[in-house]
Amino acid sequence: MTHESKKPQKILIVGGGTAGWMTANLLAARWGGIEIGLLESSDIGIIGVGEGSTPHLKFFFDEVGIEESEWMPRCNATYKNGISFVNWSSIPGFESYFHPFPAQTDDIFTVPAFLNSIHARMQGYNVNAHPDSYFLETYITQKNLGPIPTENFPFGVAYGYHFDSGLLGQYLAEKAVSRGVKRIFGTVTEVLMNESGELSSVRLDDDSQLAADFFIDCSGFKSLLLQSALKVTYKSFKENLFNNAAVVMPTAMAEIIPPETKSTALSNGWAWKIPLTNRFGNGYVYSADYITPDQAEAELRQHLGMLDSDVAARHLQMKIGRVEKHWAKNCVAVGLSQGFIEPLEATALALSFNTVSAFIKCYEKGAYTNQYEDEFNKEMNARFDGVRDYIVCHYKANQRKDTDYWKDNAANTHLSDVLKQLLHFWQAGGDFAKNMYANNLIGSYQPKSWACLLAGYGVFPPLRASENNDHYKSPHDMAQLADFIRRCGLNFKKHNELLRLT
Ligand SMILES: Cc1cc2nc3c(=O)[nH]c(=O)nc-3n(C[C@H](O)[C@H](O)[C@H](O)COP(=O)(O)OP(=O)(O)OC[C@H]3O[C@@H](n4cnc5c(N)ncnc54)[C@H](O)[C@@H]3O)c2cc1C
Repeated sequence: MTHESKKPQKILIVGGGTAGWMTANLLAARWGGIEIGLLESSDIGIIGVGEGSTPHLKFFFDEVGIEESEWMPRCNATYKNGISFVNWSSIPGFESYFHPFPAQTDDIFTVPAFLNSIHARMQGYNVNAHPDSYFLETYITQKNLGPIPTENFPFGVAYGYHFDSGLLGQYLAEKAVSRGVKRIFGTVTEVLMNESGELSSVRLDDDSQLAADFFIDCSGFKSLLLQSALKVTYKSFKENLFNNAAVVMPTAMAEIIPPETKSTALSNGWAWKIPLTNRFGNGYVYSADYITPDQAEAELRQHLGMLDSDVAARHLQMKIGRVEKHWAKNCVAVGLSQGFIEPLEATALALSFNTVSAFIKCYEKGAYTNQYEDEFNKEMNARFDGVRDYIVCHYKANQRKDTDYWKDNAANTHLSDVLKQLLHFWQAGGDFAKNMYANNLIGSYQPKSWACLLAGYGVFPPLRASENNDHYKSPHDMAQLADFIRRCGLNFKKHNELLRLT
């Protein structure tokens, strides 16, 4: 491949779901002068779920220069401080925990105390090592406060959002079109390639053809370009992650809008509860190898108190895994077409954002050639695998014994080497964070997040006999720590107020 500049004249994005329109906005913001078209099919809809984010969605909006005050009301969006995991553990005292997004105060003041307590608890000392006592965003969530501090609070606080995915897609489409992206409707019936095996054009159902120099595959689980046409292989995560289906239905909004996603473990999977300004989105993610769709729907209805309701449920299938190469020839896949790791940590849009950002960086660095294709693919695979490991750990560490599903998950031996090492360091009871850094195990999640998960489910050895517990002296004072978090919390407003709903 030559290194001379080969900036493409025309880019065609195939697919107008959230991934397609996020990509269109990012490329239009970055590459003025390139003709960008986005093709979507009115006959084939979007998946229409995916309503929670990580802080990466904020990075995306910052990157494309769109203010919260503009997009949030249009998409019925709310703020998200993190995720509650409820009933994943039956160990008394560990029935739930909150996984917060990071705040600077945690890193500076409270996380060292948390990690210290974990270390002591792993030695069998009777200390409070439950994550809920140590994080600012856990505290503000318990008080229904939003994540934006007053101006005189000098510390950064990360947060995500909840939003209506259909409205977000429409909003992003409008924005992209106003920035010059050409919106095209049609259904791809054939993908055409040139003699060197690169994509050249797509044929539509009206027999017209759309040609481009570079293609972005945002066609969802079908992956029309990368997997179907270019035959890039797909690596299933079925052995690591059992869930392959979901059933979803809305419920009415409460007066107070919680600033968190709730993830409640059910008999054969887990249910999300996502607050928007006008409704809750709910869904049960389960394994169809353990229960039928009808059973899952009945269980979700019962969980939501909707047994007598005629609100329709929607059933979806999920393909869990990733492609071996996210960029091949003149095509990059973004969104479900490149892979999906079930929605437990709501990471899909973050991965889409990471993909487009990394692609822009590598494509520009290689003067618009495939020179850095391998580097890009390695980076994307590491990101997907890092997220997968963290999610697998939820299932591996679950402390339920009520169904074969949970028992099989806890007994699952299909763990990556990274996850095996991490669990080894946890069980060894040494300095967990130090061991993670020393062994190059920092990937998509920081030690504090791993510690929240494992401590949150109560994965600890038995306590020492009480006479051997007496001599442990904690280096920090829990009352002072709680007071510090409480005082930090004074700088935050009610979530409803932040959304201007009170
Ligand atoms: C149960 C579930 C829960 C989820 N929860 C979350 C979450 O909380 N957070 C999160 O970040 N993500 C979540 N996701 C993932 C999220 O939904 C997707 O990543 C996101 O919606 C992007 O989807 P997409 O754009 O890749 O695909 P889609 O929305 O499926 O869009 C595909 C597009 O391709 C077009 N297309 C398909 N075939 C053709 C054709 N032949 N010709 C022309 N166009 C075509 C369609 O018209 C459509 O526009 C969840 C997914 C599932 C399944």
